[in-house]
Amino acid sequence: MTDLNRRDLLAGATAIGAAAVTGLGPTTASASVPQSGTQAPGFYRYKVGSYECTSINDGARTFPMPDKFVVNLPKEEALAAGEAAYMPKGMVTVPFNPQLINTGSKLVLIDTGNGVANLEPSKGAVGRTLQNLQAAGVDPKNIDLVLLSHLHPDHTNGIRLADGALAFPNAEIMVPAKDWEFWASDENAAKAPNDMTKNYFANVKKTFAGLESKITKYEWGKEVAPGITSIATPGHTPGHTSFAVASGDKKVLIQSDVTNIPEFFLRNPDWHVAFDNDAALAQATRHKFYDMAAAEKATVIGFHFTFPSVGHVEKDGAKYRLIPSAWNPTI
Ligand SMILES: [Zn+2]
Repeated sequence: MTDLNRRDLLAGATAIGAAAVTGLGPTTASASVPQSGTQAPGFYRYKVGSYECTSINDGARTFPMPDKFVVNLPKEEALAAGEAAYMPKGMVTVPFNPQLINTGSKLVLIDTGNGVANLEPSKGAVGRTLQNLQAAGVDPKNIDLVLLSHLHPDHTNGIRLADGALAFPNAEIMVPAKDWEFWASDENAAKAPNDMTKNYFANVKKTFAGLESKITKYEWGKEVAPGITSIATPGHTPGHTSFAVASGDKKVLIQSDVTNIPEFFLRNPDWHVAFDNDAALAQATRHKFYDMAAAEKATVIGFHFTFPSVGHVEKDGAKYRLIPSAWNPTI
């Protein structure tokens, strides 16, 4: 049996260090190779039947945890959950992952990320969808359909370039009818309960200005694209939608924002995230959706899961657990 303790590890490190200093190490290695200083592109392919899907990373935002990030919990407990998930102290990290589905006849992008206007480092390392699509060999002009799960900025703002032009100029844009009805209403905007919600209304106006006649509104329980069915998962927003992507006898569930970061709200489905429009309904939706996903042992893709955002959900008493899928080197 190998007894690996800290003293042995340190002794090992010293020996390696000494070898390097005395030149006894491998002679072919060179320390003068420049470091790259940047992250690798973020895209990950998986198959669903005959469909080829790609998880596209838009980046991740790390920010000081707002006081009411978890609305119905003392902040200390929310901070403790963040620390337990090894997030930087006092901060939360939220990743963003749109999904590209190549059905063989159509190229569908589900959600678009934060948009390139957010690429400046001061605004966080987000807005990388276009560069990661490019790294995956995808020309934005070839995307046939942009399918939006709901109308929050981190899902919609990638439809435009920094100069306002359409990022996917040939794509039809589909939005959930119920979300459009809610967010495009001036009457609802006037009743916005806080600044965050006010900004959401303003953002919908700005992002979709001039596109009102171009967008297609879709309903729940319909095949909105070949093999892609819209699933009602309201609460996060009134029209918040998840998708089942099915080909042959294979299926994945794209859960969109049924939970925000899973370490908080999938693990604790009764915690309410600040971004939920109707927190009680979102909570009920979480239980319903994850009970179904766990019973079906379905592969679940989450927009805010850690990249590549693919996993399975298990029931754990009154809570749930996410088991991330291992990186698959082949598809
Ligand atoms: Zn979101």
